Amino acid sequence: MQLTKKAHILLIYTGGTIGMVKDYKSGSLKAFNFKKLLQNIPELHQLDCTIDTVSFDTPIDSSNMNPEFWSDIASLIEDHYESHDGFVVLHGSDTMSYSASALSYMLENLSKPVIFTGSQLPIGDLRTDAKENLITSIQIAALTEKGKPVIREVGLYFEYKLFRANRTTKINAEHFMAFQSPNYPPLAESGVHLKVYKEKLLPYGKVKKLKVHKAMDGNVAVLKLFPGLGAPLLKSVLDTPGLKAIILETYGSGNAPSEPWLTNLLKKAKQNGLQIVNVTQCAAGQVIMGQYETSEQLKKLQVINGKDITTEAAITKLMYLLGGNISGKSFKMVFETSLRGEML
Ligand code: ASP
Repeated sequence: MQLTKKAHILLIYTGGTIGMVKDYKSGSLKAFNFKKLLQNIPELHQLDCTIDTVSFDTPIDSSNMNPEFWSDIASLIEDHYESHDGFVVLHGSDTMSYSASALSYMLENLSKPVIFTGSQLPIGDLRTDAKENLITSIQIAALTEKGKPVIREVGLYFEYKLFRANRTTKINAEHFMAFQSPNYPPLAESGVHLKVYKEKLLPYGKVKKLKVHKAMDGNVAVLKLFPGLGAPLLKSVLDTPGLKAIILETYGSGNAPSEPWLTNLLKKAKQNGLQIVNVTQCAAGQVIMGQYETSEQLKKLQVINGKDITTEAAITKLMYLLGGNISGKSFKMVFETSLRGEML
């Protein structure tokens, strides 16, 4: 007879409200020693898995997140990849979709769960959403079937739903339901039962060795179009020293003003080697260049089609591909390919 092995989960605390306490002098929330706070959650001992915790030396509000911290999170997962069955990353909700998207690219051949979660209220608060988010995330990270992890991708769990992380966006600054995945259904839902929608998960491939990519190139920009945007602003963004790629957040299905100054500025930037990606500023739906006359000019310019990708997943994909020195010629083709289920 074989004893079922208890899952071994690593909890990585980067910061965020979940582990914050109120500074009574100023009234604002600040990061706290998470290990101490965990001692106040006796429920964790009831979980059928063993939990190790590791924390950033100085936990941060996620507004201070940056690619160096992503690389730290990736290193922690890499260092514990063999010894642990799953990972739960506790992170502020403000930039969680960016970090979780970034990690989805950085961790190539991931075959274990990496679940990002956090909360809108601190774990010590009476009405906190932190306990449910934390406990269910750990349970999800510990799920196995026939000895193999059920989730083998980067997920984001918040308020009873597990999403593919690189499909999410933060949509609410105060509701417990803070995230949405507008173009992809949830991977799992927690109610009386924990239901996993297996057909929505990334397909099981052959288990390959984890490859961790830590080089993220930050020479990227996002420009949201708005009626009245003028040539000087666009020009100054395109002239940013070192800029290698820009996301244009366009209208509707990828439309932009058809005025010649805009087309000419983009054309020149493209000739100088800039990668230009068309992502819709709509919350849901996709870019279809050529559907309207107002996107014909972008199609002719061979602007990269962001399809139904979120801005968070697009900006981090740019950093990842540029960091990996993808050559100018194949860049468009690689960007338009779904690498981790982030786009159609
Ligand atoms: N400002 C906080 C952060 O993102 C909010 C949160 O934790 O949800 O770190």
